[in-house]
Amino acid sequence: MERVIGIDLGTTNSCVAIVEESVPTVIPNRGGYKTTPSMVAITEAGKRLVGHIAKRQAITNAENTVHAAKRLIGRKWSSPQVKNAILTAAYKIVEGPHGDVRIHLRDKTYSVPEISAMVLQEMKLFAEDYLSEPISKAVITVPAYFNDNQRQATKDAGQIAGLDVIRIINEPTAAALAYGYGKTEEKTIAVFDLGGGTFDISVLEIGSGGVFRVIATAGDTFLGGEDFDARIIDWLVQGFKDQYGVDLRQDRMALQRLKDAAEKAKCELSSQNETEVNLPFIISSSRNEALHLQRTISRTTLEGLCEDLVERCIDICKQTLEDARLERDEIDDVVLVGGMTRMPKVQESVQDFFGRPPNKGVHPDEVVALGAAIQGAALIDDSKQMILLDVTPHALGIMTYGSNFEELIPQNTTVPTSRSKIFTTSRDNQTAVKILVMQGESQNAAENELLGEFILTGLRRAPKGQVEIEVTFEINSDGIVSVSARDLETGQQQSIQVTASSGLTKEEVGQMMEAAKEYLVDRRASDAFEGARQEAEKLITEIERMFPQVEHIVAASDFGRDAISKARTILDRVRQAIGKKDAAAVKEQMESLARTHRMFKGVVARPNG
Ligand code: AMP
Repeated sequence: MERVIGIDLGTTNSCVAIVEESVPTVIPNRGGYKTTPSMVAITEAGKRLVGHIAKRQAITNAENTVHAAKRLIGRKWSSPQVKNAILTAAYKIVEGPHGDVRIHLRDKTYSVPEISAMVLQEMKLFAEDYLSEPISKAVITVPAYFNDNQRQATKDAGQIAGLDVIRIINEPTAAALAYGYGKTEEKTIAVFDLGGGTFDISVLEIGSGGVFRVIATAGDTFLGGEDFDARIIDWLVQGFKDQYGVDLRQDRMALQRLKDAAEKAKCELSSQNETEVNLPFIISSSRNEALHLQRTISRTTLEGLCEDLVERCIDICKQTLEDARLERDEIDDVVLVGGMTRMPKVQESVQDFFGRPPNKGVHPDEVVALGAAIQGAALIDDSKQMILLDVTPHALGIMTYGSNFEELIPQNTTVPTSRSKIFTTSRDNQTAVKILVMQGESQNAAENELLGEFILTGLRRAPKGQVEIEVTFEINSDGIVSVSARDLETGQQQSIQVTASSGLTKEEVGQMMEAAKEYLVDRRASDAFEGARQEAEKLITEIERMFPQVEHIVAASDFGRDAISKARTILDRVRQAIGKKDAAAVKEQMESLARTHRMFKGVVARPNG
């Protein structure tokens, strides 16, 4: 049976896992790390870099290195989040052909799902390397607050990467699955997730018989590790200005170095009380002297700088418990997710608020991917019965007269669900009504996300307010929304299935898939060449080291001279094949090369040699 991988496609880092013989396991990347930076870069030579190698060169190639693409996925060009990203990102964000968002790197423009697909493709490769088998099915996690368009865009990213995304699940739900795996007690838990870009809190009930019910979920999409980093950057910039009168913000390169240093200092302060930020030659003074930044920061200073950020997290927790109608002591366990929960102040505040130490049994960076893998295994194996009862993260409703938003399905309603409401016409003799289906929490419809629209025609002519129309919303277990409207008297009915839009057409996704496949062929070829080259060069080095000695020993005989000349020819051929980057030719010569190597070793090892 084909196996399914679970992928946590994070804002800052991604992680892939699989269930092996009933044990959920994280798959390490090629460098042996369990998480991979969700970063993509294109080098000057047009080469694509993903993960750690992309992160390592981010400072010198900031304009062509994408980080935090997740903040843009499935968003419209006109959204405030995109406007905000344009101001802060070092890479160029441009408008796409469908009011969507594209990213310009070097001489090419990419859609956001395409960028995310590059990360997914890499995760898929790690899994295939590790399992030594092709993988095509995945469960991918998304933040609970993601709307339908963002979910669809994530699915598209999977498809472009050559993955059949058999389910999209919410990150907190995945964390709860990993937490509850193998446990039998009934529990109410809170999942506190503070990552690089976002904060999320969910309250879930883990029932007996593998039922996971989400009670409430909330969060802030602009509250995360990057905000903590920004506070340190502000502090460093201000200090530098006070000391030298120079504004580091004017220099992009300096700012990028500051960003890296701030994050590093923040992480170090999770395990030590003090750390030094040391950035030599950060900028030049007005007199062209090189200036250095060197400053010590303490954990207490960091905590002071970020106090309000931690408080905001706790305020959201408070609100979520109220929504869930639960007291703090009704929470049996608190699961921490996300790199930022390693900060001692965050852990202390969580402990103070919930009145208990957070659970230490799960790894904050891995728990979401493990949960996705558990869900993946359950989906293909009927014996692993598990029921996930998720909630709608956003209210669903329609736009009514005067641009008001009329809610039909409230936030945090367990899905699947169906709700109806009766509306009346707003004009005399109105024969048609346009139904605008929206998602969001604002009273003002314009501030919510438009999911789809349709027109109910053939209404009976009557004075305004006298024709009654029943609107029904339905969400099935895959999260697909359908809406119908019915004239209660005539029975005239119209309905639509709301299809989320990732911002890409089917054709575009198809083309991007083809491009990704082509890349994969090239990538496999270059991986194969790299492997062969390393192996060949190791032998060449050793043969060359032995050459003078072997020559000395065997040169006296014709047979020996012949062997030496043959060895030279083989070395030349291999070098030529390496020069031409011809993996097949290198491999073809490998056997002769290995034979020569064995022969040389034999000669050198001879007692009189
Ligand atoms: P995630 O999105 O879950 O990968 O979380 C990434 C965020 O966690 C980034 O902002 C990191 O800087 C932050 N982070 C990672 N390790 C630590 C640490 N030891 N202490 C504080 N923050 C950390």
